[in-house]
Amino acid sequence: MRLPLSFEFFPTKTPEGAVKLRAVRQQLYARKPEFCSVTYGAGGSTHQGTFGAVQEILSEGVDAASHFSCIGATRATVREQLAELKAMGVKRLVALRGDLPSGYGIGGEFLYASDLVAFIREETGRDFHIEVACYPEVHPQARSPEADLQAFAAKVKAGADSAITQYFFSPEAYFRFVDDTRKLGLDVPIVPGIMPITSSTQLMRFSDACGAEIPRWIRLRLQGFGDDTASIKAFGLDVVTDLCARLQGGGAPALHFYTMNQSVATLAVLERLG
Ligand SMILES: Cc1cc2nc3c(=O)[nH]c(=O)nc-3n(C[C@H](O)[C@H](O)[C@H](O)COP(=O)(O)OP(=O)(O)OC[C@H]3O[C@@H](n4cnc5c(N)ncnc54)[C@H](O)[C@@H]3O)c2cc1C
Repeated sequence: MRLPLSFEFFPTKTPEGAVKLRAVRQQLYARKPEFCSVTYGAGGSTHQGTFGAVQEILSEGVDAASHFSCIGATRATVREQLAELKAMGVKRLVALRGDLPSGYGIGGEFLYASDLVAFIREETGRDFHIEVACYPEVHPQARSPEADLQAFAAKVKAGADSAITQYFFSPEAYFRFVDDTRKLGLDVPIVPGIMPITSSTQLMRFSDACGAEIPRWIRLRLQGFGDDTASIKAFGLDVVTDLCARLQGGGAPALHFYTMNQSVATLAVLERLG
């Protein structure tokens, strides 16, 4: 695998989980990631856990990106947390709107991720490299594919340096999205987000929630395996390795893995890619 790599984690809830995650990170560091990122619970729910994990990654000698979501946040809280991240030595952010769990009011002073990107640039200049999210298969709440593309353009114009996609299994969707952005004159790197397949129920649940499409043939094959996890994993490894090879062959600038805090499936794909 010649492409630069990054690995995404989520903050753990228990001390035992944190110990396990440290071991997972060490296994993945063998692949020399460009950076590792830690997700951030919308509404600030994982503030301590996210920043704590980011600090640990930095102390392990690896560049770390903190995800940062703005839904429900105020300018004052964002300003405070940016200062905290800067003091920790963080140089990279993944700036997002986020999704509030149902039951939370929207509130807050930011409507969209583009507002957050503009605010970060206004407050901190070029202190941070800013990544944003994008959706080759269209964000589930977008008014239309065109509106979603414009929303992405707004984030780039507000100052985003690069983008990471929602995961997908159809390389055509990614290549078409990249082409569409280039036609708009946007030239930031667009890094495919890769979701290893290890469980069909988990994958179906996530995909329904985030709008990622599982092609019919993949869905049917996964359903056909029932509870046979070994076959699900073997099939998932074939599918995801092939996807990565096609992305690499088609000019993707890097790969970002949604590790789900596990190393085995990601490492298996990377090993297969050679
Ligand atoms: C790489 C990646 C990492 C992620 N990490 C996290 C995380 O750590 N924590 C978390 O909570 N979630 C995370 N998410 C999920 C993300 O928060 C959700 O997908 C969320 O619904 C949208 O976030 P966004 O930053 O893309 O929002 P936005 O870019 O603001 O877009 C949200 C919606 O609003 C629309 N929109 C944007 N601007 C406008 C406008 N001006 N007018 C009308 N409509 C507009 C867009 O088309 C889209 O439908 C991540 C997603 C990705 C792809």
